[in-house]
Amino acid sequence: MEKNDYLKYPLIWRKDDFFIKIYASIPNIATGILITTDKATFIVDPGDGILRDLNKDVGAVTILKVSDIFISHGHHDHVGGVWSLLTYLSVMRKKSALNIFYPKGCKEIESIYRAFIKVYGKELSYQINLKPIENSKSFNRNSVSVKPFKVNHRELSDDGKNSSLVPSLGFKFIYDSKSICYGGDTAYCESLVKYAKNSDLAIIEAGAEDENTTDLHMTILQATEIGKTARDYFLVHVPG
Ligand SMILES: [Zn+2]
Repeated sequence: MEKNDYLKYPLIWRKDDFFIKIYASIPNIATGILITTDKATFIVDPGDGILRDLNKDVGAVTILKVSDIFISHGHHDHVGGVWSLLTYLSVMRKKSALNIFYPKGCKEIESIYRAFIKVYGKELSYQINLKPIENSKSFNRNSVSVKPFKVNHRELSDDGKNSSLVPSLGFKFIYDSKSICYGGDTAYCESLVKYAKNSDLAIIEAGAEDENTTDLHMTILQATEIGKTARDYFLVHVPG
């Protein structure tokens, strides 16, 4: 990765038929990630704008193929596009089921789902399966091995004086002996160090404004150090 490349969205990486594209129509306001192989179409963290980005970029046929959504945590910039995506899939008459994987205890996803079913449940063309993740066991989706791992993401209290842990995960996706490690939002943590190492691609957030906020996010220096242990890496959430 070249210096300042992290400011140029979308970020794209491909190895054979393992492909990832990271959208961020407004960096730090919305994250949205598409992962595809010949057999799989996944979305990770559908932030605001994901539907527009995907429609413009890959179109309805690909969007309708999405079988699984992976949520790292419930902050607005990672889930803001869920409602419109779910609505679109129904309007376009998706038939196959959709799984939503998320960290157990992520109230935002469960609230969005409950409200959505209340409004559209009767006319929904497809089934939605909520899949809360409570441990780090690997599982398989369409020939992709998915390894969730706990990360250390905190949010500030309203008065800004305290912080508390948010249910949050990173994911390592392995396909055909190639791997992508996505850390979600996190402060420096050992699990990310472990899973980023030797990945073909690591996606590491570097959102700390300065050294004083490092228990909430990583600095560019910290994120770069982890990124360099992978074969290739992207820094995301970099303060602009
Ligand atoms: Zn966050």
